[in-house]
Amino acid sequence: MTRTTRRGLAAAGLAALAAPRVARAQAGFPNRPITMTIPFAPGGPTDIVGRLLAESMSREIGQPVVVENSTGAGGTLGAQRVATARPDGYSILLHHIGMGVIPTMYRRLAYDPVNGFEPLGLVTEVPMTLVGRKELPAANLAELVAFMKAQGDRFNLADAGIGSSSALCGALLANAIGARPTVIPFRGTGPAMQEILGGRVDLLCDQTTQTTEYIRSGAVRVFATPSRARIATLPDIPTTAEAGLPGFEVTVWHGLYAPRGTPAPVCARLTQSLQAALRDPRIVQRFTEIGTAPVPQEDATAEAHRRFWMADIARWKPVIEATNAYAD
Ligand code: ASP
Repeated sequence: MTRTTRRGLAAAGLAALAAPRVARAQAGFPNRPITMTIPFAPGGPTDIVGRLLAESMSREIGQPVVVENSTGAGGTLGAQRVATARPDGYSILLHHIGMGVIPTMYRRLAYDPVNGFEPLGLVTEVPMTLVGRKELPAANLAELVAFMKAQGDRFNLADAGIGSSSALCGALLANAIGARPTVIPFRGTGPAMQEILGGRVDLLCDQTTQTTEYIRSGAVRVFATPSRARIATLPDIPTTAEAGLPGFEVTVWHGLYAPRGTPAPVCARLTQSLQAALRDPRIVQRFTEIGTAPVPQEDATAEAHRRFWMADIARWKPVIEATNAYAD
């Protein structure tokens, strides 16, 4: 018997010994709290969606799903945290359209922005709204565009860093109208919104999950939604096309991820819990109140999520390359 064969048989024997223990670990999953990383600051739209999801998943899966905000660098630091975590199911990531643009925008990451993850399922797709400080001297989108162009770099545009949805929306708006505002990045649009409310920054493109309450209370000035159709729960807001800026559409899809190498039965159990949460009447009601809705169950699968995610990367790649919109 050759040495290779002996080594092969030994390895096979060890694997056979380990298999029942691995199977037991998977069979008992989860037997302790799960950490859901949110790659943006508390209070922002991703945090709002994540905490609602975590609460419902905790009830269904029988262990606490604990949210931890790991912020910075447009959501890439939080993504890195999960991509490099133990692939045991106890670390998951809620992220969004950033996972579609980061693989092209960031050329020097300390993690693999595609192969570092197992997609578990899509969660929700959230409309965006262009909101400004109350005293902004513009009563509608046309006046906002004129003011932005006249102000040049004296106009301040807030976002959550390159790779965030607010940064993508802001860049598309500036390119569409030929403006060159000063961009002020925050660790999330939660803190950015505080600067809009305080009148210290001019404009923010953010998701209805956060902006709905401020629009309804009149605490911000709203100009348009870069969506194909009006938002059912905010019917008075015109689309950008209706307001004279066609071809500018951004909505923010969200997905749930585990580190690459997380065992398939564990991923399946996490997807099962996600699907149950998306059927939870409390989630359906709360998502509706903040301008969005759970995705259909057939989209809350690993396969559907992977297809959608790969297509989104392919969609944004030429746009980012053509505009040289690299982060590094
Ligand atoms: N979704 C991010 C947040 O929750 C903001 C963004 O992507 O622009 O802060």
